[in-house]
Formats: sequence, C-alpha cells, structure tokens
Amino acid sequence: MIADLERARKLALNEKRLVVRHAAVALFASLVHTSICLFYYNGGYFAASLGLFSAIFGVIWAGNLALFAIVRSGVTLDWRDPSISMWFALWLTLGFLVTSYYVDAFRISVVMVYFGVMLLAAFRSGFWRLAGLSLVASLGYALVLGLVFADRSINLNLSVEVLQWMIFTLTCVAFCVTGAAINAFRARLSRKNGELGEALEKVREMAIRDELTGLFNRRHIMDILSQQQALADSGGYHFSLCYLDLDHFKNINDTYGHGVGDEVLRRFARLVHDSLREADYTGRLGGEEFVLVLSQTELGEAAYVCERLRASLEKTGFHDLNEALDVTVSVGVAQYRPGERIDETLARADTCLYRAKESGRNRVVTEGDDEAPEDAARAQA
Ligand code: GH3
Ligand code: MG
Ligand code: MG
Repeated sequence: MIADLERARKLALNEKRLVVRHAAVALFASLVHTSICLFYYNGGYFAASLGLFSAIFGVIWAGNLALFAIVRSGVTLDWRDPSISMWFALWLTLGFLVTSYYVDAFRISVVMVYFGVMLLAAFRSGFWRLAGLSLVASLGYALVLGLVFADRSINLNLSVEVLQWMIFTLTCVAFCVTGAAINAFRARLSRKNGELGEALEKVREMAIRDELTGLFNRRHIMDILSQQQALADSGGYHFSLCYLDLDHFKNINDTYGHGVGDEVLRRFARLVHDSLREADYTGRLGGEEFVLVLSQTELGEAAYVCERLRASLEKTGFHDLNEALDVTVSVGVAQYRPGERIDETLARADTCLYRAKESGRNRVVTEGDDEAPEDAARAQA
C-alpha cells in the first residue's frame, strides 16, 4: 500500500516535470524564432531599426517568461491544460506574425516556426481549439500581407506572397486534423489508463476482502499471519490470535431467515472492526467464523479485548431485525510462540474455542488457562 502511494507520488512529480518541460519547449521554439530574426537583422533583411527590433523582442520575451513563471509556480497543475499550451501558442503566433511583417524576403520561413508550436498545442487541444488557433494564424498572416502591400513602397510579388499564404493555410488545416487525432488518441489512452487503474484497485480489493462483511478474507488473513510470524520470529515482536464463532447461528438462520442471518454477520463484523485498533487485523474465515490478529498483544491483553467485544455484542440490540433476536459469540485465544508453525497457533486457538463452546458458549477461553476466562480478563484489566 505504501509502495502504491509512493508510486502515485512519483507519477505526480513526473507529471509536473512534464508540464514544465512542455513550457520549456515553447520557449525553445521562441528562441529559434528570435535567432532566425536576429540572423535576418544582421544580414539587413529585417526592415526595422535596432530600437524597434529590441522593443519587439523585449515584449515577446517578457510575455514568454511571464507565461513560463506561471507554469513553474505550479498554480496551473489543477487546470485542464497545466502547461497552458494554448496561451503559449497564441503568444508565440502573435510574435511570428508581428515579426513576419518586417522580413519581406523570408516571410514564410518566420511564419513556418508556427508549425512547431502547433505540434505542442496538438498534445493538449482538440480540433476546434487548434482550428481557432490556425484561423488566428492564417487571418493574421493575411492581415500582415495586406499591411505590407498597403504601407511599404517596396516591390513585392503579389502572386508569390498569396501562394505562400495559401500553402501556409492548407498546411494549417492538415495540422489541425492530425493534431486533433493525436490529442483524441492521447485522451483515450489517458481515460483507459484511469479505468484500468480503477479496475486493478477493485480486483485487488476483491482478492483480499470478504464480499458480505468487507473484512479480510481467509487468504489475506493467512498472508497477514505469515508476515506477523516473520516479525515475531525475528525477535522483539509478539501477537495473539483469536478465533470467534457466533453461537447457535444455524438457529438464527432457521428461525429468522437467511437474510437476517446475513445482516447479523454484517453488524457483527462492523462491531469487531470498530472496536479494534488500526494496527489489528480482522477477517472472516467463512460462515459465522471470524479471526482477529492482535499485533504486539500478549495473551492476557488479547483475552481482555475479546471479553470486551463479547460483552459488547451481548448488549447490542438486534431487536429491529426481530424482537426475540439475541446474538452471542464464543472466543478462543492463543498467542504465537516463536518458531512454531501458524497452523499450530490456529489449532490452539481452535481448541480454546471448542472449550468455550463446551462450557456453555458466550465466553472467552484463553490457552493454558484453567481459571474462568472472565476472571482472567478481569485480572488482566
Ligand atoms: P455453534 O454455536 O456450535 O457454533 O452452532 P452454530 O449453529 O453457530 O454452528 P453451525 O456450524 O452448526 O452452523 C453455522 C451456520 O452458518 C450454518 C450455515 O448455514 C450458516 N452460514 C454459513 N455461511 C453463511 C452466510 O454467509 N450467511 C448466513 N446467513 N448463514 C451462513
Ligand atoms: Mg457458530
Ligand atoms: Mg462455526
């Protein structure tokens, strides 16, 4: 169980790392864009002054770093898209469009960086969000072309520019379709993983729990006993084992019906479970037979715990099920002796239970103890 929690914690950490890495890739795309523009500026192909160039990239990087800081802070971890890839994509696209205005000869190369960003967004967004982003990019590109033709008195080849815009827009459509398919696949995989995790947890519970009472089943109690045995054999640890069997349960079934019998079993299981410590284990061996494994508990203490439980059951009213219904339990208690086999401890507890039944039921009998069990328990108290 602790190992499961540890694994879940590591997964959560990985998820955080993944989100930050996603944002870092967006920064890398922006770095590529900045480098390309710097290269064009140095070659004299970026039609802006140094002041304007610096101002444009100052604003772009201020926005980039602000978005990255938001992701790093962890506040987005509960959001639907923790790496805020849509915001990154929009901001970067805006940057590409603004700068593409100034690089006439290589406009398409600047705008093409957009597809790197589109791939990033595709992992987190569905078709319509990607289509919206592409629409912004395509219309923005058209607007930039319009401004360039209206504002600049340089000679541009209109048909080449328009052809490039059309190719860009068609590629956008292709990216939207494949991107949405990638995202749908990823979402389906994630949902399936979630379902598989839940199913595994259910199977695990079913494998260790008794269906009627929710207590541990025989197999799991035997596993627990093996673990307790290993602890006790390595020294400094001891535990007691108690066999519980409801008295005349067959009569309850025969007189009040099987449904009432089942309800008695459920209520008894709840009573046992609620009256023990976290460190103890309760199981149903089958029928109306239960076992308690009391860790770090010696015989006398175990007898006291069982006596308290016996008295508590005796006092519990089942009158809402039937006026005349009273339920009692007999208990046999044994302490594990280091070096012995578990079935030897079980056999000793079973012998005590047999003695409890023989001597009149509704009582606790402790191994090797010939005095009356109530006296033993009282003495211990
Ligand atoms: P004793 O005091 O000697 O223990 O007598 P008893 O009647 O409790 O014991 P016996 O072993 O004769 O009967 C146990 C009964 O428990 C018989 C069986 O039908 C019933 N039983 C076993 N499993 C279930 C169950 O899941 N639900 C219900 N309602 N009854 C069950
Ligand atoms: Mg019984
Ligand atoms: Mg029985």
